[in-house]
Amino acid sequence: EVPVAEVEDLHVEFRLRRGVLARPVPLRAVRAVDLQIGERETVGLVGESGSGKSTTGRAMLRLVEPTRGRIRLDGQDITHLRGAELRAVRRRMQMVFQDPYSSLDPAMVIAESIGEPLDTHEHLTRADRTARIEELLEHVNLSRRYLNRYPYEFSGGQRQRIAIARAIALNPRLLVCDEAVSALDVSTQNQILNLLEDIQAEFGLSYLFIAHDLAVVRHIAHRVAVMYLGEIVETGPTERLFESPAHPYTEALLSAVPIPSPRRQRERERIVLSGEVPDAANPPTGCAFHTRCPHAMDVCRDVAPPPTPVEGGGTVRCHLRS
Ligand code: SF4
Ligand code: MG
Repeated sequence: EVPVAEVEDLHVEFRLRRGVLARPVPLRAVRAVDLQIGERETVGLVGESGSGKSTTGRAMLRLVEPTRGRIRLDGQDITHLRGAELRAVRRRMQMVFQDPYSSLDPAMVIAESIGEPLDTHEHLTRADRTARIEELLEHVNLSRRYLNRYPYEFSGGQRQRIAIARAIALNPRLLVCDEAVSALDVSTQNQILNLLEDIQAEFGLSYLFIAHDLAVVRHIAHRVAVMYLGEIVETGPTERLFESPAHPYTEALLSAVPIPSPRRQRERERIVLSGEVPDAANPPTGCAFHTRCPHAMDVCRDVAPPPTPVEGGGTVRCHLRS
């Protein structure tokens, strides 16, 4: 089965200038990332800020240029598409941000915000356009009475519903949600997560769900990938990864947020990582996590661990497991 979205050996490098006179140094934001998202699948992408999650999502949507690697949508290589070909592919991939103001113009009534992608890509009559916008509002459980209101007139949760309506206006295949519920309170978060699940079931959408909040990812993701310093260090089915993490970094992340588990009698003991997050412009040799890993061995300093299959599904990059 061909994945809906796929990145293969993705590398993204930025040039970083630290001070006006400094020579720019390469910042390797994403390194050798492989990721596939299937039909109707939600893949959670977790990791600390600066780990390369957003850059991976943006590269998948062709919003940042990869330095190396391949990006495919429904099997089509879209890595180097330009102009009209790229625009045609863009409508099939959309993004939902943490702050809906990034996608909703505060000076536009929501009928215009939701209608804008339709105006760019489809040529509907006035009546069909209005009917379509009303239908989209209905899909996100908002009343059509709201059509002529401005974003500031809505709550954070309602604004995120509007951003989702806009994102699904062109029937995309893939939605990249980047911290899409992070600014909301827990009960509103749950409503939006349930809405995203309903929309996925109805439209057969695939999601890349980027979040630092592990409870949120556990709620919505079928599979999870964990990033550290630009690399994916572990992947796996959500239950397996949360119940028995294979990578010491995943274990530390999970231990920092107690997530209730029916199978576990007591909370995991908190693992406090020593040391600072290393400089991404100068990542450690060998296993990039070795400067903070409680289990680091000599080999970890010199040899990068290869991805190894994990019992119960997924892969891990750790010498303890290979
Ligand atoms: Fe820790 Fe070594 Fe495994 Fe890296 S390879 S996570 S340093 S034990
Ligand atoms: Mg981010």
